[in-house]
Amino acid sequence: MDLRLPQDLALAHQRIFLRCDFNVPLKDGVIQDFSRIDAAIPTIDFLLHQGCSIVLASHLGRPKSGFESPFSLDPIEKDLKKRGYDVHLDAFHDRDATHARSQKLNPGQILLLENVRFYPGETKNDESLGQFYASLAPFYINDAFGAVHRAHASVVSALRYFKSDHTAAGFLIEKEIKGLNRILHPRKPLICIFGGSKIGDKISLIKHFINQADHILIGGAMAYAFLKAKGVSIGSSLIHEGSMEQAEEILGLLESSSTHLHLPIDHITSPPKGSEVLASITEDVEVPADSKALDIGPETIASYSEEIQKAATILWNGPMGWFEEPTYSTGTLAIAEQIALQCESGAYAAVGGGDSLAAINLAGVANQISHMSTGGGASLEYLSGMKLPGLVNLIKC
Ligand code: ADP
Ligand code: MG
Repeated sequence: MDLRLPQDLALAHQRIFLRCDFNVPLKDGVIQDFSRIDAAIPTIDFLLHQGCSIVLASHLGRPKSGFESPFSLDPIEKDLKKRGYDVHLDAFHDRDATHARSQKLNPGQILLLENVRFYPGETKNDESLGQFYASLAPFYINDAFGAVHRAHASVVSALRYFKSDHTAAGFLIEKEIKGLNRILHPRKPLICIFGGSKIGDKISLIKHFINQADHILIGGAMAYAFLKAKGVSIGSSLIHEGSMEQAEEILGLLESSSTHLHLPIDHITSPPKGSEVLASITEDVEVPADSKALDIGPETIASYSEEIQKAATILWNGPMGWFEEPTYSTGTLAIAEQIALQCESGAYAAVGGGDSLAAINLAGVANQISHMSTGGGASLEYLSGMKLPGLVNLIKC
């Protein structure tokens, strides 16, 4: 996929509609994590260096429709001001006034629209709303990778109202697509490590790598659906409804494939009720009847590490256990460290998923990981082989 990029457009001194992903976590109106804003800066700076003005748009949270102050982009405006930008938050209520303000922007100025989800029709991909966005600027750039899997008006319908040689993807999208393409077109051997709570969230992802990956290593709560489907006792380990059937389907597909599946061979379990011990290691693959498996055991860590050491390319999505609890974080942290070591030996690794990224940060190895994919649902869908509706019209002809 060859995307049109900002440098492919004749946009010097133009006004640009720039869709970003400023969907930051907020607590009492205070931004808790700035990484999404940081990630948008290269494209914003590129445009300003070209003498452009910017109509900046983003969603934030899930407001119903219409103005709701907890979802206002006011904290984003404040942060951008602190960073030295000449930015002004638009009032939401009058579209004509918004239009007039956009037309008066001088080079270097930014008009930050209010949360696009306040606009009725944004999440329904409304055509007239897309047309309104396009009336604000002659050029369109989308750098909201976290939103490209959604057919929403600021991501999809707006594009119909710009000339195609006036539209492009931004640098964050370029970076994500490049990183994820290294997994979709990997140097072999490719090892995929899947974990986390539900198979259901990741079934298309897992299926996509059957016959593509040389090895699939499974951990986390989802491993217990696979083990149960294979007739192993799993005690009181967490199993979500429908996950047994999903595990059986995947096991069936794997049987006639070139991909080797690895499941945990031992576990760290929570103690039975009333017991004094903090946690126990199982003797083998079976989980005792009154115990719950909450992490992979030492034998599993050793065997998974051995597989990771053979990898040229690695995809990791989903922790190996209840890693938020230090007693059960050993497996997840060990896998994070092993992946980082393998990157230092020349392998390429992409890690995706909010909890997996948190685990990488907890292990302190973020700098060694080749690609930390922050796209959430968009990353998973792209890796599952799905077309991302927001990117379809940004591909070079
Ligand atoms: P990601 O956000 O990386 O995609 P998920 O959201 O799928 O990952 O899963 C992460 C969650 O799964 C974490 O909250 C973790 O504690 C939980 N989890 C993983 N393994 C287990 C387990 N064996 N038992 C209970 N919870 C688990
Ligand atoms: Mg998660």
